[in-house]
Amino acid sequence: MAIYNTASDSAKTAVRSFLTKLGEQYLGRSINTGSGKGKKDWARIKETVFGNACAYCGVSDVALGMEHLIMFNRAECGLHHPGNLVPCCTPCNKRARDENKAYVDWRTHLESRDISRSDKDKRLRRIEAHIVAEDYPELSGDEQKAIEILANSLYSSIQAEVQKSLDIYSELDEALIHSR
Ligand SMILES: [Zn+2]
Repeated sequence: MAIYNTASDSAKTAVRSFLTKLGEQYLGRSINTGSGKGKKDWARIKETVFGNACAYCGVSDVALGMEHLIMFNRAECGLHHPGNLVPCCTPCNKRARDENKAYVDWRTHLESRDISRSDKDKRLRRIEAHIVAEDYPELSGDEQKAIEILANSLYSSIQAEVQKSLDIYSELDEALIHSR
């Protein structure tokens, strides 16, 4: 839990909430990975599909976190959906940025791992098969663009709302002091 909460923290949370709801809409049910069916989905993906190993480098017997292949943020707009979730070790959870300061996509990330050519190919096929098996929605370019526009609009609105409340408070405070 963050101790210092900025307006952009709230805006990022709102974007993730939108991407979660959208993923659930495509899936037709909830994907709360902390309980119920969603928790079972996650256990199945981690244990059965990926054999309790990092989807990228293949390391096992370490703590594995939940990774969104298409990043769960307003830049990539990956949905919270079983087909976008893979287990990932701590070092692989950190993505490099490209020359434009944007995070690299998961294929480039996989390619950058320090593993053999045949392991890279094997893991690429496994991840791609997982995306298809879980029926991750095949979004058209227009749909993807629409999601990005909405996510960015939501992000700006939430940030602006926090600032607006601060501005109103300053006005109220001043008015109350002056009326004393
Ligand atoms: Zn790894």
